[in-house]
Amino acid sequence: MAEIQIAGGSTQRVLVTGAAGFLGSHLTERLLEMGHHVTGVDSLITGARENVSHIEGHPRFKLVTADLARGLPQAVRDETFDRIWHLASPASPVGYVKQQVITLKVNAIATIDLLELAEKCGARIFVASTSECYGDPLEHPQKETYWGNVNPVGMRSMYDESKRFMEAAAMVYHRERSVDTRIVRIFNTYGPRLALDDGRVVVAFIKQALKGEPMTVQGDGSQTRSLCYVDDEIRGFLLLMESPAYHMPVNIGNPDEVSVLELAHEIRELCGSQSEIRHTVLPPDDPRQRCPDITLAKALLGWEPTILRREGLLRTIEYYRKKLGI
Ligand code: UDP
Repeated sequence: MAEIQIAGGSTQRVLVTGAAGFLGSHLTERLLEMGHHVTGVDSLITGARENVSHIEGHPRFKLVTADLARGLPQAVRDETFDRIWHLASPASPVGYVKQQVITLKVNAIATIDLLELAEKCGARIFVASTSECYGDPLEHPQKETYWGNVNPVGMRSMYDESKRFMEAAAMVYHRERSVDTRIVRIFNTYGPRLALDDGRVVVAFIKQALKGEPMTVQGDGSQTRSLCYVDDEIRGFLLLMESPAYHMPVNIGNPDEVSVLELAHEIRELCGSQSEIRHTVLPPDDPRQRCPDITLAKALLGWEPTILRREGLLRTIEYYRKKLGI
């Protein structure tokens, strides 16, 4: 991954919530490589110790196991940070429907707790919002100025609405209390360390294709997603965190849009699999289309994704092939 230049280049005391999760573990790894001191917090509900096992014991890394939905742990409240990254949350439709109250609380209450902590420490805080804020979008591709089309009481609302609240909270603490905030809207991201039972489309299809099981395309598969490889996403995060003050949401995602059916065929081919493609029921409120407009990220951060879908999928398939021993 390309080196990220940090203004001043000084060592930071960093808090990463969700450090044992998919994005959190990749981010933590990068922050350690950059020489920072990282305190990670994770409930291990959707994250996994295995994701950070290779850095446990690192002299600049410490993992606190705690559920932020129950409040900030004392070990975190006692520390001072320069940077706070709030990434903790179930993030797959399967995951957040299983953990509805926790999803609400970790994105709403824990966000407030962390904004208060940022104010107390004088830390800059980055909150992980989502393309789900656009709901089932009527504008395509989605620009940050689009307000979205979200069902406030639907099956995804614990996630969509708590992330929208997270954004509102970050803006309020910035405007009223001058907290130095950054908001990212993450579009579908994939790569190694997504949990095998996570349910998100890339890992579900890879697992099914490698095992020769039916590949479950929900609905007719004409719905679209735009997939970003994890290394590109994390590079965007780091640039946004260290960007000159910009407090409004920024889309970080890959505009390379693909239908779910096309993706199933592509993954099957890349895995060299004979799996049958089986159509199943489309879950309620599944967005019809999703694609980021990244004009702002390009102008503000000089960021754009560099890893082509085929390359990213091949790297990801390789990881799961080893993990599954196939
Ligand atoms: N999907 C699918 N089969 C699966 C898992 C997901 O067809 O086994 C579809 C899902 O209906 C959605 C898209 O893939 O249209 C992306 O789903 P995912 O759970 O990855 O995340 P979302 O973008 O919906 O939050």
